Parts: sequence; structure tokens; C-alpha cells
Amino acid sequence: MISTIHPIPAFSDNYIWAVSETGSNNVCVVDPGDATPVIQYLNANHLVLSDILITHHHPDHTGGIAELTRRYPARVTGPKPSAITGITDYVAEGNLVELFGHSFSVIEVPGHTLDHIAFYCADTELDKPILFCGDTLFAAGCGRLFEGTPIMMQESLSKLAALDPSTNVYCTHEYTLANLKFALAAEPDNLALQRRNQAEASKREANLPTLPSSVELELATNPFLRCTQQTVIRSAYAQLGRDPKNEVEVFSALRAWKDTF
Ligand SMILES: [Zn+2]
Repeated sequence: MISTIHPIPAFSDNYIWAVSETGSNNVCVVDPGDATPVIQYLNANHLVLSDILITHHHPDHTGGIAELTRRYPARVTGPKPSAITGITDYVAEGNLVELFGHSFSVIEVPGHTLDHIAFYCADTELDKPILFCGDTLFAAGCGRLFEGTPIMMQESLSKLAALDPSTNVYCTHEYTLANLKFALAAEPDNLALQRRNQAEASKREANLPTLPSSVELELATNPFLRCTQQTVIRSAYAQLGRDPKNEVEVFSALRAWKDTF
């Protein structure tokens, strides 16, 4: 069983999620871009690294693999095909990853990168379903399109938006306040968004993470999941200077706007 999921801060705004097993000192980390804070966390809590999950090839998600696997005999599960060194278990859409007695299903979510995957666990013995989604879905935002196309990213986000609304969403960056600033520009009249902005600002003032988020909260406040809403379509119209032809054009206009926001 999983007992806790703890954020280990890394670099300026990454979180490396540490998943602990009930009744043992085994830990799994997700996207360890830097080994040093992970080793400090394991040593301080007398824990042993048994597993690493990798969502995509960017160095701020993979940079710690070599040092961590030199110190611990950890299984490293990640996407195929991929340029990542050190993966022991390659996975693709629909594969199941067994972790501490739970099954995580692999969801392919290309867009930010072409190799990007997410890990989802809907086990009913958990308090809530769990999603590790790397740089695809962020709190009130989404990842930049470094390798994929807008239609690819929108299909990927749709897969995540269709998960159980109560799912806890563990993204890998503390980008929430900047994303909310943009979301409010795209949807100034969204009351749920205004409330969320206040709540998340209070957390950051208290130096608390704004994560995990939930699918339900993202559906209500994340403009990139709300491309069929009239307010979001109006914002896309203002960016394009004409009516967007379809939902993908709305998404694409929002993403281009956010890139220069
Ligand atoms: Zn990335």
C-alpha cells in the first residue's frame, strides 16, 4: 500500500514526488531531475529507493537517474521509444506498472515531448485516484509544445480530463500562480478561477505547495481544458482576430498567447 506522497523541492520550481510504502522503508520517486535532494530526503528519513518513474526525457526530470541507481538498486520505469539513459523497464500505452501493491496504468500523452507518458492509479483502496503527469497538465495550465502539435497535446489533455474527477493530480512544477494570472486574463469572469487564485496565493504566502491539484478543479479553472467555453472562445477570437474554426484552434491560440504572456 501507499502511505504518503511527499514533494521534494528541486531546482527553482520542480517537485520530485516521493511515494512511500506502508510498513516498509521503500520509496519511489517520480522524475528525479537532481539526485542530491532525493538522497538528503532518503537519508533524513532512513528510507531506501526501490523505484523511479520517468514521464519524459527532459534533463530536469531525468538528471538524477545515474547517481541514484549507482547508490540504490532501483527499478527505473519510463517511456519507449526514448533517449533516456538508465531505464530498466520500458512501458507504453495501456501497460500496467505494479508499485507497492497498486497498479498504475500508463497513458501516452505526447505534446510537450513526443515520448511523454503519465501514470494513473484508480485503486479503490486509495483515498483518491493518483495521476503523475509530468509536464503535460499543470495546475491551471499545460506544458509548452516543444515537440508535439496542438492537436496532439489537446488529445493528450482530453485523456487526462476524462479521468475520475476526484483524481489527485501531481504535476512536476510550481507554476500555479503564473498560470492563474494567465487563466484570469483568458477567463476574467470565471468565479471558480477567482476563488482558486486567492486560495493558491495564500498557500504560497505560507510557503506551501499548491499541489496536488485535482481533475475536478482543473476542469473548472484550467483554460486549456475549457476550449469549448464561450469565454475562452472569445479570448481565442481576440488573439486570432477572427472566429476560431474548431476547438483545436482555440487551444492553439491560447497556447501561443501563453508563450508570450
Ligand atoms: Zn519537460
